[in-house]
Amino acid sequence: MATQHVQRMSRLMARTLREDPADAETLSHRLLVRAGYVRRSSAGVWTWLPLGKRVLENVSRIVREEMDAIGGQEVLLPALLPREPYETSGRWSEYGELLFRLKDRKGADYLLGPTHEEIFTLVVKDQCTSYKDLPVILYQIQTKYRDEARPRSGVLRGREFQMKDSYSFDVDDAGLAESYALHRAAYQRIFTRLGLDHRIVSAVSGAMGGSASEEFLAPAAAGEDTFADCPGCGYAANTEAVTFPLAGEADAAAEHPPLEEIPTPDTPTIETLAAHLGVPASATLKNLLVKVDGEITAVGVPGDREVDLGKLAEHLAPAEVELVTAEDFADRPDLVRGYVGPQGLGKVRYLADPRVAPGTAWVTGANKPDTHARNVVCGRDFQVDRHLDVAVVEPGDPCPQCGTGLRLDRAIEVGHIFQLGRKYADAFGLDVLGREGKPVRVTMGSYGIGVSRAVAALAEQTADERGLSWPAEVAPADVHVVAAGKAVQLALAEQAAESLAAAGRRVLLDDRAGLSPGVKLTDAELIGVPWILVAGRRAGESVVELQHRATGTREELPLAEALTRLT
Ligand code: ATP
Ligand code: MG
Ligand code: MG
Ligand code: MG
Repeated sequence: MATQHVQRMSRLMARTLREDPADAETLSHRLLVRAGYVRRSSAGVWTWLPLGKRVLENVSRIVREEMDAIGGQEVLLPALLPREPYETSGRWSEYGELLFRLKDRKGADYLLGPTHEEIFTLVVKDQCTSYKDLPVILYQIQTKYRDEARPRSGVLRGREFQMKDSYSFDVDDAGLAESYALHRAAYQRIFTRLGLDHRIVSAVSGAMGGSASEEFLAPAAAGEDTFADCPGCGYAANTEAVTFPLAGEADAAAEHPPLEEIPTPDTPTIETLAAHLGVPASATLKNLLVKVDGEITAVGVPGDREVDLGKLAEHLAPAEVELVTAEDFADRPDLVRGYVGPQGLGKVRYLADPRVAPGTAWVTGANKPDTHARNVVCGRDFQVDRHLDVAVVEPGDPCPQCGTGLRLDRAIEVGHIFQLGRKYADAFGLDVLGREGKPVRVTMGSYGIGVSRAVAALAEQTADERGLSWPAEVAPADVHVVAAGKAVQLALAEQAAESLAAAGRRVLLDDRAGLSPGVKLTDAELIGVPWILVAGRRAGESVVELQHRATGTREELPLAEALTRLT
């Protein structure tokens, strides 16, 4: 192994803090700041200091190695992107407020890339002309921008963050399935090497069928996702994707009064309402469930987004518009069923979801414009839309596959793989010349890993009350050598550090003068390098203490023996 440099703490830009940052809500946020890995620049925007950058680089390296191993070719696309391709795909407006938009000096519209399907599609359209050029997997590790509504948990949810995004291009469905499987396997290797406990869960509802999209979730209390997990059959899905079988629904429907569609001329047309709300009319029609003059009703609006109730009320004036609450549905099972299926209404998420800001309502459902529906039965009158995102699963609910009671756990989404199909190829006319000499429409997949988020997820899973505790492959160093004392200790620590570095170990040496051994050891535990080697009390006899950060085991032994152990 190549000789490494010793990183001296006396020179290291990493000021540790004894106190938690005031705004820190999650363990990783507190510890990464306190241990001097990152510093906040602005809301959701972070500076990576040397220790943090090393961990980030280690994660990137593992991702890169495994992407290369499946034949991925690394590229680097711009983060500053023109509006036009995103206009073509519809995402310039669909993204809503999540998109950072800006203008250049000539007034042309740009955006900061939140993800790059459009641009990769254009790259391949430019470069590939024949089926012989495919399949191809392209990837980048790059800074992404999303103006997240709640960028709170440190680097877990940034507004500027590092993502590995890759895109596969194939001529047929079988090819896409293969590219998807390659990514799935690569992701398993990546997260295993990172030392991240992870689960693969379905990210699409059963109603949509297939396994066209899966998420890699790292179980952790700080996670913003909840996944359902079946102890019986191994079924696992993000609760957003769990749909209960509609079989029983058919019987229930037989006794259920028929669907009643009430033409409601007062309901604004999709176009007028869209214009009023400032959302595109072209988006999929959804329904917004609100109370209009005290009556629970559904208003057709486009998109799947939060709507400003104030604007809606203004538009529907003189009607009075209010947000519905769970109580409103107590005696309205007719409406309930239509929107949440067999789960029952009290569980409708948008009613109680703290993520929905006061004064806004979550748009959902799928019905007809200018019509209010009564007695809607899910599955009979319309199919479950996976974007419904409303059925809240509870522990013990029956597994959709085998009926066993489901368990629920919190987790962090660290990766997401997705069979896109021809959506972008259609939008951009991406064809290649096929085997038979005719143009063939290309089919695509897109695959993301939150590289910076993975750092925080690892911290969440491995830290303890004393600090961070990195798995070997991602740690900022292999050994943290502490000179716990004066000249004798420092001399022995220097000797240990040099020997380790010469043997190819990455070493952090706490050579800081004027700090007590206690302070240095507390810092070492906070920083979380896997091995801590202390030159202390018995340095005069060349005896050191070797501590294993994760397990807390410690042992006194001659330096020579410790070096053999560590090299
Ligand atoms: P989330 O549900 O957490 O908002 P997402 O589903 O919007 O994530 P994707 O579009 O699937 O994210 O992006 C791919 C990956 O990028 C995610 O799996 C996640 O690991 C990472 N990621 C997404 N948003 C952020 C963010 N704001 N900060 C850090 N990492 C992120
Ligand atoms: Mg998101
Ligand atoms: Mg997600
Ligand atoms: Mg996702």
